Amino acid sequence: MSEADKVFKKSYKCPICDSNFKSLTVKQGKARMIDTDIDLKVNYRDIEPLKYDIILCPVCGYAALERYFDRVSAFQRKNIIDKICQSFRYVFEDKDEFDYDDAITRYKFAFLTSQVKMSKHSEFGFLCLKMGWLYRSYANSLDEKMQKKKAELKEQEKNYLNNAFNYFETARAKEQSPICGMDELTFDTLLASLCVELQKKEEAKKYMSIILSNRNATKRVKDKIFDLKELLDSENGEDEE
Ligand SMILES: [Zn+2]
Repeated sequence: MSEADKVFKKSYKCPICDSNFKSLTVKQGKARMIDTDIDLKVNYRDIEPLKYDIILCPVCGYAALERYFDRVSAFQRKNIIDKICQSFRYVFEDKDEFDYDDAITRYKFAFLTSQVKMSKHSEFGFLCLKMGWLYRSYANSLDEKMQKKKAELKEQEKNYLNNAFNYFETARAKEQSPICGMDELTFDTLLASLCVELQKKEEAKKYMSIILSNRNATKRVKDKIFDLKELLDSENGEDEE
């Protein structure tokens, strides 16, 4: 089954310009999970669902993750019309599936929307996290011969994940739980996992102890933290050699 068989054109109504349009979306239950990376990125067989996460209005250029697509105040809407829609000129090819470059362009439109919307730190963080993961998948999809391109993509991944971590730390201090739809424990587990991925050892330890002292932490969550700890310690060992 190809990626095109796992997506369909879903109808949306733009909250900015009121246009009706269709956007490729992953069919429910069609993406089969393979495994999960250290920082909780889930990998699927024959498809990268992250490529389809941005809904982009082809008429006015407004773009957002589905979770935030309809959340626009009157003030934000006016700003978006003035600063994005008026100058938006982009012709989209009608496609049956997106490649990584299509997806990156869509995320860039979503970042632009978020800047104009003056979105919360959590929304920027979530975009950065997904963009970082998208670059990882892109790099992994390339042939070993394309070392230079792979290295460039890995560098982008690292930058976006670092930005995600910084936005999330601020969101954690300033915003109310749930953040990005995650309860406190899930969000802290994501932060701890990101720290391990990014080799931020001090911060990783801080979040691990916060989680382990949380009375709501289940055995499953604690086991995950012990796995992360082991990973962090083994990497510490490598550094000292
Ligand atoms: Zn629109």
